[in-house]
Amino acid sequence: MEAADFVKVPFLSLTPQAWQQMVSAWGWPAYRGKQVLKWVYDRAIVDPEKMSDLSKIDRAKLAEMIDFAPATVVSRQISEDGTMKLLMEWPAVDGSGGSAAQAETVMIPDGDRRTACVSSQVGCPVGCKFCASGVGGVKGNLTAAQIIEQVLQLNLMLAAKNEHIDHIVFMGMGEPLANYVAVMDAIARLHEPQCFNISCRKITISTVGVPPKMRELAAEEMPINLAISLHAPTEALRRTLIPWAEHFALQDILSAAREYFDRTGREITLEYILLSGVNDQPQHARELSKLCKTLRANVNLIRYNEVEGLGFKRPLSQDVVQFQEVLRANGVNAHTRKSRGRDIDAACGQLRKRQAEAGGGLVNLTANKREL
Ligand code: SF4
Repeated sequence: MEAADFVKVPFLSLTPQAWQQMVSAWGWPAYRGKQVLKWVYDRAIVDPEKMSDLSKIDRAKLAEMIDFAPATVVSRQISEDGTMKLLMEWPAVDGSGGSAAQAETVMIPDGDRRTACVSSQVGCPVGCKFCASGVGGVKGNLTAAQIIEQVLQLNLMLAAKNEHIDHIVFMGMGEPLANYVAVMDAIARLHEPQCFNISCRKITISTVGVPPKMRELAAEEMPINLAISLHAPTEALRRTLIPWAEHFALQDILSAAREYFDRTGREITLEYILLSGVNDQPQHARELSKLCKTLRANVNLIRYNEVEGLGFKRPLSQDVVQFQEVLRANGVNAHTRKSRGRDIDAACGQLRKRQAEAGGGLVNLTANKREL
């Protein structure tokens, strides 16, 4: 093989078992393979030169053979509240015909908790009318390695503060259940004690509602949290907001959600983005309450973050309070999510959209942003 054809092995594409097989073929003892796993996953060190308990020869071997973190962080925004948003780029993505892929990932700090909101696809096939990720449709699926690299890249940045990601939500770009195999592969690695070692109870999949895949997920009998992006209490209103909704009846989604609860014991979360004058009025809350009575669910209300050009408005504070009160008065466990990162491009897909509008060049994101 010509030197120019040589491609380094992406470390994150290997399970710990596959990694051990590879290093065993190099003639390494198993403990040395474990040392590398610890450097990457426990200490967020991806530069072989810094793996100080390896010999010079072993470090050179790693540098020659392995690509620990292939993504380029194209841009980074840090909010006043500590929320950090990355736009990452990989040379190619599955099904993209070989073109570069970009995806956003967000770190949300809350007390001691560090949550990664990860993307599962490039763009999104669901096309919600109020979302920047849906603009332009889906460009391809992310691989399991690209999904977990989002967590690794956040850990690389958090390491300076001796922090790491301990919760995961699949709420970034894409419909995770439309990329089921890669998402489940990524979850296996996030959960694996030799890798990120994150409990399934701290992992949430957020779906627009794909009943056959929700049932498949239920059959895995893993205690993963399931959130359904409802955003409207009736089929008719939902279809105006979520084009994909026409593929799956709301009643079937709710029935699959009930099955999920029965198999896993995990309460369902209904995500509801409040859009001013569209779905945030008391009658909507009353309709939503009726629907909630049909399953064990809690409701997460989210104030919309406006996206330029999409025409939807952030709800008025009094409407949000009233909406939540109506739900609670009807016995629904409802919370309003804190708005995070409003001084950066908080809405999903906004950073990628802005970068594309800038002609693909680097966007200047440092103005008014606090450095980590
Ligand atoms: Fe896709 Fe979620 Fe955006 Fe809807 S809100 S288009 S499901 S990323």
